[in-house]
Amino acid sequence: MATMIIESERTKAASGKTYEVRNPATGEVVDEVPFGDVADVDRAAQAAAKAFITWSKLAPNKRAEILHKAARNMLAKVEEIAPILTREQGKTLLESRIEAQRFGENIAWFADLADKVHGEHVALPDTTTYGLVVRRPIGVCGAIVPWNFPLTLAANKVAPAIAAGNTVVLKPASTTPLSTLACIEALIEGGLPEGVVNVVLGPATGDAIVGHPLIRKIALTGSTPTGRKVMARAAEGLKKVTLELGGSDPCIVLDDADLEAAARAISVGRFFNCGQACLAVKRLYVQEAAYAPLMEKLIARASKLKPGNGLDKDSRMGPMHTETQRAEVEAQVKDAVDRGAKVLYGGGRPKGAEYEKGWFIEPTILENVPDGARMWTEEVFGPALPVRKIKDLDEGLRLANDSQFGLGSSIWTGNMAAAHRAVSELEAGYTWVNALQIAHDELPFGGTKQSGFGKEHGVEAFLQYTEEKSVVYGGV
Ligand code: NAD
Repeated sequence: MATMIIESERTKAASGKTYEVRNPATGEVVDEVPFGDVADVDRAAQAAAKAFITWSKLAPNKRAEILHKAARNMLAKVEEIAPILTREQGKTLLESRIEAQRFGENIAWFADLADKVHGEHVALPDTTTYGLVVRRPIGVCGAIVPWNFPLTLAANKVAPAIAAGNTVVLKPASTTPLSTLACIEALIEGGLPEGVVNVVLGPATGDAIVGHPLIRKIALTGSTPTGRKVMARAAEGLKKVTLELGGSDPCIVLDDADLEAAARAISVGRFFNCGQACLAVKRLYVQEAAYAPLMEKLIARASKLKPGNGLDKDSRMGPMHTETQRAEVEAQVKDAVDRGAKVLYGGGRPKGAEYEKGWFIEPTILENVPDGARMWTEEVFGPALPVRKIKDLDEGLRLANDSQFGLGSSIWTGNMAAAHRAVSELEAGYTWVNALQIAHDELPFGGTKQSGFGKEHGVEAFLQYTEEKSVVYGGV
């Protein structure tokens, strides 16, 4: 049975309660894990507060050295960790390897920033004094993670937090705790001091983290409704919050685009991870002359995505993560079809004995999806893509911005002026121009509108795990 990681203890829940983690491809039990609650979060927060005293005072270059060594140890275990992620989450082994690799790389990227904290010297009117602006770590930070990219999204929070000298109470999604435990254990085995990152498990621990008085900052990746609840609860304790929430990223393809490159990026952007990604091509707007050739290319690509158990070498798309999640996407597709949409590809479940026990679904492309259909107005968190023909860029931009969300966005065009307009007018935290929609370590990532606020990745994320303090030096 897996255990939580609280300081040097590998511990069961104080209540003794447990729950099962199941494989979305087969329904089999992968492991039994502790069902933590408020008491466990309290222990973890106390442990993190104790570890903060020494970790925050460590010379920054020493902290960087420890983090690099820990990351190397974790990266040496990618082949062990990837199948654990596939078993609990469902994604293909290739996707799991990429994700596990990204976890270690992210720790190393922020380790490089640990000894590059800069402040400011400020001249003051009284010349016997001067001012400084210094940056200090915040304290204990809470990290709350969803199930779609359990490792990447944990690293996005843990890496900048600990590089800046903070300590962490980390809560993976209840259904994907095992690969996270393996990664943190690998960091500790590689030299990360016990107590710097503590892992609590179970659905009740999220709210307990947000409410705990010792925890000063909350970083959540999750749905928009959860973001609202977390923000309201965090307000009671006046905590800092970073909210990476839902998205419905538009993609505009103009007639002069490189359609082969666009089709590849849209296919990856919509079907990677079985469509369960926050940054994903979720609404496609295509100019008239590009429409038919692009659909042909997209359908050809979708038809190569063989669904299957993520552990099988020939699977190109794993199952959806849960039955509820699949039912939600199926309902969104049905709503579109009931309103008159035409299915260009997929639209159902793959047939055959191998698919009977898992939450499999076909990659799906729909056209003529009417205005107001759920696929346009809600986030579609699965491999189904609504497509619409547009006359010109004006129409594309108007439709793209007609959404409550503002996470990612993309445009494919050979025209620099069109690209520039899209960059300035698309209401989103990220715009890709003729490029695959992936988040880079170097660039700040985060949403606008109902997709949340605050940044992960980049120097910006690192700085958000520090607090500025003004200092006046007198008598000089
Ligand atoms: P979710 O909101 O249900 O859960 C996310 C995490 O929050 C889980 O660990 C959950 O246990 C915890 N949680 C739930 N209620 C809570 C509460 N009241 N207080 C504290 N913690 C609570 O989301 P999910 O279904 O696990 O993930 C899918 C959602 O995440 C989608 O909407 C997706 O777009 C979003 N997402 C966003 C990003 C991004 O970076 N913007 C990335 C990936 C996923």
